[in-house]
Amino acid sequence: MLTQIEGIHHITSMARDAQATDRFFTETLGLRRVKKTVNFDAPDVYHLYYANGVGQPGTVMTYFPFPNIGHGTRGVGEVGTTAFSVPEGALGYWAKRFEEHGVGGLAHESRFGEPRLRFAGVDGDGFALVEVKDDRRSPWDGAGIGEDVAIRGFHSASLTLRDSGGTRALLELMGYTPGPEEDGILRMVRQDSNGAGIIDLESRPDAPAARQGAGSVHHIAFAVADDAAQLAVRQRLTEEGFQVTPVIDRDYFHAIYFRAPGGVLFEVATNPPGFANDEQMAHLGEALKLPTQHEHLRAQLEKTLPEIGA
Ligand code: ZN
Repeated sequence: MLTQIEGIHHITSMARDAQATDRFFTETLGLRRVKKTVNFDAPDVYHLYYANGVGQPGTVMTYFPFPNIGHGTRGVGEVGTTAFSVPEGALGYWAKRFEEHGVGGLAHESRFGEPRLRFAGVDGDGFALVEVKDDRRSPWDGAGIGEDVAIRGFHSASLTLRDSGGTRALLELMGYTPGPEEDGILRMVRQDSNGAGIIDLESRPDAPAARQGAGSVHHIAFAVADDAAQLAVRQRLTEEGFQVTPVIDRDYFHAIYFRAPGGVLFEVATNPPGFANDEQMAHLGEALKLPTQHEHLRAQLEKTLPEIGA
């Protein structure tokens, strides 16, 4: 069993509207935009990152806003719900705030004894807030949302799968332990995690396959401490028969990608160098940052990318 995985690093989704997505994360949810860059593989599209104040792995939600893509349809083979952690007693505040902001899909639920509030993102993205006692991660304090209710980072991700057996075995290899089971959902837990140590596996044998589009998760990334840990994980996954990409430099972390059984795209990302790699911590996410290989496109991109708030 691998011991290097620390929990979720980031989750990346697709959207249609950069401005609406940016407002939703910075204003409605009160996260900090920690990076405004482009999709390194399609530089005419933004890659926007939202996180706590310091862009800590395990708190980082990222978006590719493709202006003309169709909406995704929910189904098996994807991350169905991304859940964020809030302090105990905070859900009442959020339910009221979401109603005031016109957020859809609101539903109060309980899973494994934890109260949760489901809500939908700009493109119908599946989100939830979960009350967690003593989450020690610091929230972003720049959005006018009190520390007693503010989002701490990811609580968990819920994978919707036709048959969760293969992904369960993979997560066990990655250092997760099977936990409780309820209503067809198996909770996989990484002990001593970075705070984002839960993956729920939801079996839906009769559901259709998901179709990716706006509102869909593109991939989920898991955190490792450094390059050596990433290489050890890569070697073991390769030995187990997974087709893993070479290490790719994403400027803020180093990444490898592979497809999990059941269809979800997994990434393993290093914690360093982090989002203060190319701008000061006090000004994260304000200026358009481009990787060296796309810097020559700056004049054109500054004209064509939609303007988003400061
Ligand atoms: Zn990623």
